[in-house]
Amino acid sequence: MNTASRQADEAARARTAPPILTVDGVSRHFDTADGRVDAVSDISLSVSHGEFVSIIGPSGCGKSTLFSMIGGLLPASAGAIRIDYAAGTMTAEGVTLKRGDKITIDNVAFPLELQWVARSERLEKARHFIDLVGLSGFERSYPAQLSGGMRQRVSIARTLVFEPKLLLMDEPFAALDEQTRLLLGDKVSQIQATLDQTVLLITHNIAEAVQLSDRVMIMSYRPGRNKRILPIDLPRPRTSEMLSSDAFGHYVARIWADLREEAGRGMRETEGVSARGADHASS
Ligand code: ADP
Ligand code: MG
Repeated sequence: MNTASRQADEAARARTAPPILTVDGVSRHFDTADGRVDAVSDISLSVSHGEFVSIIGPSGCGKSTLFSMIGGLLPASAGAIRIDYAAGTMTAEGVTLKRGDKITIDNVAFPLELQWVARSERLEKARHFIDLVGLSGFERSYPAQLSGGMRQRVSIARTLVFEPKLLLMDEPFAALDEQTRLLLGDKVSQIQATLDQTVLLITHNIAEAVQLSDRVMIMSYRPGRNKRILPIDLPRPRTSEMLSSDAFGHYVARIWADLREEAGRGMRETEGVSARGADHASS
């Protein structure tokens, strides 16, 4: 089958297959010493196999809380989350590079060691994913010898080695400079296409959300609601070169219009809180 007909076939299958993830009217509040915080309010979202969905919204709108619920780390206060797969999920953030004393290949293979996978198989898989993230030749480098972008790619390889059905990434590129972020975006797009990987990405970066996503979910300021789900109908493969196109700019402007409203609301609210001398509402 050629690429075009395979893609059409996969698209048809994705449309008919049950969603890999269904978030159905999910809410979550926290009872704190200062009272009740409504972090997430009545979010519904369904994600198909192979889809890339970004979640964007102002700080404190409940994005990470939503991920904790999807990842099974935190129960929802209301609503239901259904995941149609057997394997576990893993967030990229949860497995960032913590072992400064380990070379790349051992860092990537380490999660498999915890699963009692045999050493030869561990190294083979690790090499496969190191190659996929474009780090062949750096198997024996220590983290200190790698750039920030390369370390982030090690972290992504370390996540992919689990072969998760659903990849949850909570602001994985936040610490990187803009150029590195764009190039890494290209890489993540390629990897997603190669693995037909389903990805949920939390980001603050509008261009990144447009570049990578099939759909972008824009969340409102606290309590985090689903303000809009915007399908991104740009051709793939997406490259950082597309960022200067009119169509791309149009999507960025639409998302910014929504976000500006919410970010403004968040800013006024936190400033109001500081003015009353209780500057601990948000973290
Ligand atoms: P985001 O990831 O969008 O920046 P979070 O999901 O981290 O937002 O937080 C949403 C809101 O819920 C914030 O006001 C935060 O302070 C609050 N929150 C998150 N986790 C807890 C917790 N364990 N206990 C109390 N409040 C929490
Ligand atoms: Mg967060």
